[in-house]
Amino acid sequence: MDILSGLNDMQQEAVKTVSGPLLILAGAGSGKTRTVIHRIAYLMTECGVAPWRILALTFTNKAAGEMRERIDSFGIENTNEIWMGTFHSIFARILRRHAEYIGFTSDYSIYDETDKKNLIKEVMASLSMNEKVISPDTVMNLISDAKNNAVFPSDYEKEYGFYTFKRDIAKAYDVYQKKLAENNAMDFDDLLLNAYRLFTENPSIADSYRDRFLHVLIDEYQDTNRLQYEIVSIIAKGHNNICVVGDDDQSIYGWRGADIRNILGFEEDFPDAKVIRLEQNYRSTSNILDAANAVISNNKNRKGKELWTALGSGEKVHILRNNRDTDEGDNIASIIKELVSKGARYADFAVLYRINSQSRVLEESLLRASVPYQIVRGTRFYERQEIKDIMAYLKLAVNPKDEIAFERALVSPRRGIGPSTMEKLADYAAFKGISRLEACSRAMSVPTLSGSVQAKLSEFAHIVESIAVTAASEGLEAAVKYAINESGYKEALMKRPDDPEGRVRNLEEFVSAAADFEASSEDSSLSAFLENAALIAGADTISDNDGQVLLMSIHNSKGLEFNTVFVAGMEEGLFPLSRALEEESELEEERRLCYVAMTRAERRLYLSYAETRRQYGATRASEPSRFISEVPEEYTDDARPLRTWRPGSSGSRAQFTSSFGTANYKMAARPDEKKNTSCSEQTFSPGDKIIHSAWGAGTVVEVGILNGDVLITAAFAGLGIKKFIPDASRVKKA
Ligand code: ATP
Ligand code: MG
Repeated sequence: MDILSGLNDMQQEAVKTVSGPLLILAGAGSGKTRTVIHRIAYLMTECGVAPWRILALTFTNKAAGEMRERIDSFGIENTNEIWMGTFHSIFARILRRHAEYIGFTSDYSIYDETDKKNLIKEVMASLSMNEKVISPDTVMNLISDAKNNAVFPSDYEKEYGFYTFKRDIAKAYDVYQKKLAENNAMDFDDLLLNAYRLFTENPSIADSYRDRFLHVLIDEYQDTNRLQYEIVSIIAKGHNNICVVGDDDQSIYGWRGADIRNILGFEEDFPDAKVIRLEQNYRSTSNILDAANAVISNNKNRKGKELWTALGSGEKVHILRNNRDTDEGDNIASIIKELVSKGARYADFAVLYRINSQSRVLEESLLRASVPYQIVRGTRFYERQEIKDIMAYLKLAVNPKDEIAFERALVSPRRGIGPSTMEKLADYAAFKGISRLEACSRAMSVPTLSGSVQAKLSEFAHIVESIAVTAASEGLEAAVKYAINESGYKEALMKRPDDPEGRVRNLEEFVSAAADFEASSEDSSLSAFLENAALIAGADTISDNDGQVLLMSIHNSKGLEFNTVFVAGMEEGLFPLSRALEEESELEEERRLCYVAMTRAERRLYLSYAETRRQYGATRASEPSRFISEVPEEYTDDARPLRTWRPGSSGSRAQFTSSFGTANYKMAARPDEKKNTSCSEQTFSPGDKIIHSAWGAGTVVEVGILNGDVLITAAFAGLGIKKFIPDASRVKKA
């Protein structure tokens, strides 16, 4: 049988276990995603399950698209009828069908972070909450946290009684939700929260989906949150055919509310669950796999599992030491070029980093070296000012109640409309009980406005209305072009001093995106297009160009695999992040991230760190990440003690081995600013005898770095071990 071939015994068993709850718990690269794909194909062909009765939840929309293609490749038809996508896109779709049940219309807007923040600020102002006492970001995060735990405004105080500001937050949350409803808008979290409300408040709708979905499958289950769990339970507890796959060691969204208990508690939540473990890794050679296993074994809070590979030991894990962060990018670029000259393709490489801001330095190096690359960074394109401005027109055209879009579109371009006009308009709208957009269309009959202002406002309303008409009559692309040209936006843009050509190019790209969407989507309405734009995230933006090195955050690399992986910036304070150094659970999450990063590599893995890094405007010395020292030496090409740093001993060349032999890369000399100024004339090494003004004679045990300063660890007779930053007036070599 075609569908079972290409699977090992355990994978086949998972595919054939079609009824009842099933948990596939297995480490990275063991074929979990592959098993899900084959299982869907099996359900459709061997069990005769109709595609529209299958719900498959994936981590990105791109992953869903790829799954669909793979299922297609078995020669299976109608795969587009499978309900497959991210939680957010699936529930956005369900909400459009039933929006009126929870007080919205099907043309509701989806607010991104900027829209959300604008609204939160309005809410805080209306409640006289001082932004200096509690920031809008904090309020946003607290509300989001509540939503992801399925806590509604009315329960907030009860559930979160431990926060000092709980009453204020509860109030802000309540007002925020009301304003969203008034604007016929939802934020990202609401796509789930409102779906949950829809199901709990309307049992007959919940029943219809419970009946419909004979099979529910969830990939990356370790990263689901409480709310997602609740929703899935509602749907899956009908036929009880739920298959979740995941890896507790790859749970990396704790900060976004992901609840590792969902995977650890699956067997309790779904009694009679069968658990299948996959133990063979098909992705990586054993030096890479064993190194990753060794790192993750330092976590205490895990189920623990063994993974083996039949792919041979392969290359050792390369430890790449760089003097400065700028050298790091240059060295990575040279290695890539060298390997490409020996037959590798640029698309074989991925450079992963802990935080997005690391990409700039790496990008500059790749540019200088003429290495083609693509940065994967989520919704950035749609967050550009000019794109958001035009989107505001489009949003308003489908959802006239969207007050945030109204405020943005009305002043883009500037129409000479000031605060007093806005106030008069708002008064009139409130008096008549209509939206401000509708008030614009009736501007001629607003007596408090001057004739010229009346004309401007009614013209604005006319433009918005025409966008909607154009969309309905001529289609999406035409409507987007209309919005750009007829609104006067492009004309005004051309007069701007800041990169007008670049912005116009972005708008052209936006038009192409609309044209593509129109050509490739079943539903190419304006609202479907806006929904799609709002739901694009992370890895969705990887274009199918296979001639480029990919740069992305580790979070975005989940589920992906690459021939060669560089993990950049493996330094204490950066990876693990400094905020994680104090909290064991956060440190464990950082370590899981490290495990995810390392296990993306198929054949070559480089763990890279720089000894100095420019961050927040200052150059600081840094220490290699503890995760590097957690990799046993036998798996690496590096035998140096990593955690000792000797001031003044830095060579101007770094040496490392790589697949193409031992190579020497020129490195810039350590910059002077790196030297510890308070003690610049002295250097210390382990074993040195010293005299300390307070503690007397001692011996240096270790020389390290603390927040960019040299930190000496020394033993003093009768006093034990002391750590201190050497100060020339207090410590001298004996
Ligand atoms: P992750 O935890 O990173 O999401 P995963 O467990 O989902 O990994 P997959 O991505 O499904 O793993 O598989 C990893 C690689 O191994 C893929 O290239 C896949 O095609 C291959 N693979 C999986 N199972 C087999 C098999 N039985 N035979 C050959 N190749 C396989
Ligand atoms: Mg996977």
